[in-house]
Amino acid sequence: MKQALVFCAAALACLCLCGRPHKRPAEAGIAVFVSIVPQKYFVDKISGGRVNCLVMVPPGTNVHSYEPHPAQMSLLSTARAYFAVGLEFEEPWLPKFASMAPGMLVVHTDRLVRKLPAVDNDEHAPANGGRGLDPHIWLSPELVKLQASSIAAGLARIDTAHALAYKKNCSLFFAEIDSLERQLRAILPCDSGGRRKAFLVFHPTWGYFAKDYCLKQVSIEVEGKEPSPRTMRAILDTARYYKIHTVFVQPEFSRRSAEVIARELGAGVVEADGLAYDWKNTLLSVARKIGEQ
Ligand SMILES: [Zn+2]
Repeated sequence: MKQALVFCAAALACLCLCGRPHKRPAEAGIAVFVSIVPQKYFVDKISGGRVNCLVMVPPGTNVHSYEPHPAQMSLLSTARAYFAVGLEFEEPWLPKFASMAPGMLVVHTDRLVRKLPAVDNDEHAPANGGRGLDPHIWLSPELVKLQASSIAAGLARIDTAHALAYKKNCSLFFAEIDSLERQLRAILPCDSGGRRKAFLVFHPTWGYFAKDYCLKQVSIEVEGKEPSPRTMRAILDTARYYKIHTVFVQPEFSRRSAEVIARELGAGVVEADGLAYDWKNTLLSVARKIGEQ
């Protein structure tokens, strides 16, 4: 908790030193944008409902190939801040967003995050036109703290009158994350010995989560597509080696090969929505499913 306060305070001190505060907005109806739904959860926690947080990528959509809708562009003109998370579509679109909303503060919430290399063969690998880094930083509690401190600093900058409230809420959110981490560690202890617990998933969204909790993520897709029969056999061998009993499916990706693999293994198919709003309970339910193995 103390560490959380120091961290949030440091983020806000940097804000004071690093940039002039933007003009104070009208008291009512501050709108901000985020790229994906879990970020809305973070913003809501830190703003305490003081801002109206809009989401760019609708639920059930592939976040890596998203194209903003024209109607969203006009909504953007009302936004005071855009909290980017480092997804591919942001790079070409952020300058367009900024031109739609002059004076909108753009905050790169992945700025403090050291990213892991992308999984071989997935759509984020350079060979497949990706940037070579794993973009799914919102599924690691520790990394969410870094994103949260950027969000708190950004909110304080567009709404200086409530900077202290954002700082306090950020500290409370850090304490909540600390408690979540304790629960996750109890479910998935790193020092249990023996072979790492593993899980199967179509798209490799859970890499940071796997690293944090000493798990092995095995992904089914190859270059963003369904695997060949040969690759399916290799995945089945790996799954048998790790005694995987659960195959996770994601609402925005194909279930077909996951279901075929689950049938072969006699495993259960469970939805793991890494883009759900209820971030905390999503992490807990995924941990419990893996922990049961
Ligand atoms: Zn992804």
